[in-house]
Amino acid sequence: MSNSSKSRLTQTSPSLSLSDIVIGSSCLKKYEYGLSKFSDYNRKTNMGTELIRKVIRRAYVNKLRSGKSPSWRSITGLIDKICFEGIDTKDDDAVDEAYRRSLKLINRVQGSWFKPYFVKEDYEGFLDLGLRRSILGFIINDTIDLVLFNEKDVVVCQVTELADNLSPLYNDIRLRGQAWLLAQEIGKYPTQLRRIMWQPTDKIKIETVNIIKPEEFYDKTQKAIGHIVDAIKYKTFYPSINEQCKTCPFRKKCSF
Ligand code: SF4
Repeated sequence: MSNSSKSRLTQTSPSLSLSDIVIGSSCLKKYEYGLSKFSDYNRKTNMGTELIRKVIRRAYVNKLRSGKSPSWRSITGLIDKICFEGIDTKDDDAVDEAYRRSLKLINRVQGSWFKPYFVKEDYEGFLDLGLRRSILGFIINDTIDLVLFNEKDVVVCQVTELADNLSPLYNDIRLRGQAWLLAQEIGKYPTQLRRIMWQPTDKIKIETVNIIKPEEFYDKTQKAIGHIVDAIKYKTFYPSINEQCKTCPFRKKCSF
């Protein structure tokens, strides 16, 4: 890692989130047209994803507190509690809906996450890890959903929706950027990237990739982020005309 990323942060430095970097890397013209204002662009999630996120987060917190994997019974209790949060118990329809949601989640969480992954893991976890780093005079920041670690591995995880337009895991600039931010923070290279994906009509799907050549991986990630920051800094907003233009919210405005 070069020294440029280790430069001091200042109060006045402009900042970019990794979501901005994702937009800039897909099309700098799109960034210029203002999508960057929606900093939660890549965090838009449906209720199912939010519920899964809560279940996974609380399961890891319980594991961390007790020092062992929570039982399946305690996880079902947790799911019930989460699904009934804020529900007016006098409203029969709302109670029915919460009950249905809870049953659906219990089935999916057990078969596709709890049994095949969670109970077998010897990881501890950090949740919602906010990180920032300065590069080329800009502060790059983001919050990592979940970091798992044991003596051998450090895994950077994202809980998201299973969408057709997700980049292949290894090329996901946001996850790569998160791993890079974490590497700068802990002075050690994370070894895996993981996506925990939820789709209302499907099960939880988990993808993991190993980072085989860490020095090369982190060096390339820093350079890729640096290119986007450089373009934004010097306002070189050129278009990337390709398939994404069909669904771009700025296609009417864009003259290319
Ligand atoms: S229409 Fe295409 S080139 Fe124009 S801003 Fe959108 S993605 Fe970029």
